Amino acid sequence: MPDHVIWMTIRTGVIVAVVVVLAAFAIACTTSCEAPSAPAEKSGDQMTEHQFPVQKTDEQWREQLTEEQYHVLREAGTERAFTGKYWDEHADGIYHCAGCGNALFDAEHKFDSGTGWPSYTRPIDEGAVAEREDNSHGMTRTEVVCADCGGHLGHVFTDGPEPTSLRYCINSAALTLKGRQAGAGDAK
Ligand SMILES: [Zn+2]
Repeated sequence: MPDHVIWMTIRTGVIVAVVVVLAAFAIACTTSCEAPSAPAEKSGDQMTEHQFPVQKTDEQWREQLTEEQYHVLREAGTERAFTGKYWDEHADGIYHCAGCGNALFDAEHKFDSGTGWPSYTRPIDEGAVAEREDNSHGMTRTEVVCADCGGHLGHVFTDGPEPTSLRYCINSAALTLKGRQAGAGDAK
C-alpha cells in the first residue's frame, strides 16, 4: 500500500474516533445535565421550614418599623411587662401584625393573664401564625411568628384557660388593633 493511502486511512480512522468520542460525551453530558436540579438537595429540616410570602430586606424593615417594633419583630426582642400598648386593652377588634398587616388575633380570644403582655387563647385562625422551638435564654419555649412575614410575636405556653389551655403571650409592639370592619379578610 502506498504511503499516502496508509496515512489517509489512519487520518479517517482518527476522525471517526474523535466524532464517536464527542458524540458519546455529548449524550453523557445531556443526560447528566438534565438530572434533577436544585430542590433535590433540600434536607428534611428545610422541607418543614415555613415559607414566608412577605420578604423584605433588613433595610426595608428598619425604614418601615419603629425602633421598638423592629426590635420585637425582627430581633425577637421582648417588651417590658406592663409597658406595651395592649396588655390592658379591652376594646373589640382584630389584632393585626404590625409588620405586614396579617390578621393574627381576635379580641374575643384575649384574656387577662396578669403577665403584663396581651394574651390570647388562640390565633384568629390556624394559618395566621407559625410556631417553632426556641432554645434561647436557657429555656425551651415555643416561639410564635407571623405566618406571612415571619416577624417574631411572642411565645405560646400551655398554662392558658379553657377551652384551649393555651396562652399566646404576645408583644404589644408586634400588633396593631383595628376595628372588625377594617380591611378585607377579617371576616371571622
Ligand atoms: Zn407579619
